[in-house]
Amino acid sequence: MDNDTNSLKATRPQRTKILYVEDDPASIVLVHRVLESEGYQVVTVSDGLSAVDIATREMPDLILMDININGLDGYEVTTRLRSIEDMRWVPIVAVTAATLRGDRERALIAGCSGYIPKPIDVDKFPDQVRSFLLGTTEEIESAEEKAEYLIEYSHRLVDRLENKLHELETAHAELQRMDKMKTDFIIIAGHELRTPLTTIYGYAQILQSNPDLSGSPDEVGSPRFIIEKMVEATMRLNEVIGDILNVSMIDADKLELAMRPVFLKSLVRKAVRSVTNTAPDRGLIFEIKGVDDLPPVMGDSQRLYQALWNVASNAAKYTPNEGRVRITGRQIEDTPGTCGLKATRFVQIAVQDSGVGIPPDEQEHIFDRFYVLEDTALHRSSKTAFKGGGLGLGLTVARGIVEAHGGRIWVESEGRDEDRLPGSTFHILLPMGNPS
Ligand code: ADP
Repeated sequence: MDNDTNSLKATRPQRTKILYVEDDPASIVLVHRVLESEGYQVVTVSDGLSAVDIATREMPDLILMDININGLDGYEVTTRLRSIEDMRWVPIVAVTAATLRGDRERALIAGCSGYIPKPIDVDKFPDQVRSFLLGTTEEIESAEEKAEYLIEYSHRLVDRLENKLHELETAHAELQRMDKMKTDFIIIAGHELRTPLTTIYGYAQILQSNPDLSGSPDEVGSPRFIIEKMVEATMRLNEVIGDILNVSMIDADKLELAMRPVFLKSLVRKAVRSVTNTAPDRGLIFEIKGVDDLPPVMGDSQRLYQALWNVASNAAKYTPNEGRVRITGRQIEDTPGTCGLKATRFVQIAVQDSGVGIPPDEQEHIFDRFYVLEDTALHRSSKTAFKGGGLGLGLTVARGIVEAHGGRIWVESEGRDEDRLPGSTFHILLPMGNPS
C-alpha cells in the first residue's frame, strides 16, 4: 500500500453509524438501501439480547428499534440500553408496524427518543432520521398520561418476568428429567456391559494361568502374548466402565461409602507403589513426607484410595521422565467455616509434581466431566505415559469422592509450560471425625 492510500484512509471522515434492530428481511433490505444511499453505515441485528451486545460494542450514532423482536422486545432493549452510561444519550427511535393506540407513548416511556410508524415513507425517512440525529426528542406532554403509561409499562415488565421465570422453571425441570434419564441409562448400560466383560475376563484369566500356553508376553503374536494383551485390555475396559459408572453415581448422589477409620499413610503408599509399578521406565522419583503420624479420617478406604490414585497417576502422567512427585501430609486445625466446610479439623494431603503445570483459567474446569486440556485429536490412552490421555473423568471422580467425604480438592499451579515445568500441586482436605 502506498503513502497516498494511507493518508487517504487516515483522513476519510467516519460515516455516521446506524444500528437497525429488526427481524423482518424485507424491512432490512429497504432501510439498508435508503440509508446507505444517504451515506450512512448501517449495522443490523435481529434479536433483543444480541442488540444490547452489539449496541454497546458498535457505539452507533443512532438506533432504529423494531418493537416486536425475539428475546427482549424493543421496549425492553431500549430500557436496558438507557441504563448503560454510554447509551444514555444515543437517539433510539422506535420503528414499528404496531398501530395500537398509545404505541408512541409506550416507546417514549421505555426510553425511545421518538417514533417512526411502519411502513416507512421512503421519501420522508431520511429527513426523519436526520432530525433525530440532530437531537430531536419527543415527549409525552401530559404528566398524568405519562404516569399511567409508566405504571402500565412496569406491570407489563413484571408480567413478562413472571412468565419467563415460569418458562425457565419448566425448562429446568425438563432438563433435570432428561439428565436423570441419561444417568439411569449410563448406570444400566454400564452394568450390562460389565456382566459379559466379567465373563470374558474370567475365561481370559483361566487361559492366562495355563502353564502349557506357549510363547512369552514379549513374543509378539504368541498365544501367551495374545492372552496377556486380552487380559490387559479387559482390565482397562473394566476401569473405563468403572469411571463412567462412578461419575454417574456421583452425579446422581448415589455414591455409597463404607465409612470407617482410615489411615491415609497406607493408602498413599499403596497408590505410589501402584503408579510406580505401572511406570517403571519413567524414572520418576516419588517422595512421601508427613503421612506416618497422621490421625485417621472417617472414610471409605477403597474410594479414598481411588481418589489418591487418580491424583498421583495424573502427577506421573503430566511430569516428564526423571521428574519428581512429592506427597506431603499434615494436620490442620481450622476455625469453623473458614474453608466453607462443616468440620474444623482436617487432614491435608498435597500432591506436588514437577510437571507441565495447569493454566490458571483451566484449574476449575479440569474437575469437570470429560474435560481434558490436551488436543483430543492427539489423544492416546495411557495410565502413566507422559501426557497419556484418559477420559477426562479422573479428577471428576476424585472430586466427587472427596466431597462425598465432606472434604475439598483443588489445584494450584503457575500455568502450563512444557519447557519451564512449573508443576502443579493438588490439595486434598479431608475432615477428621464423622462427617454429619
Ligand atoms: P484424565 O483421566 O483424562 O487424565 P483428569 O480428569 O484426570 O482426566 O484430568 C483432566 C485434565 O487435567 C487432564 O487432561 C490434564 O490436562 C489436566 N491435569 C490433571 N492433572 C494434572 C497435573 N498433575 N499436571 C498437569 N495437568 C494435569
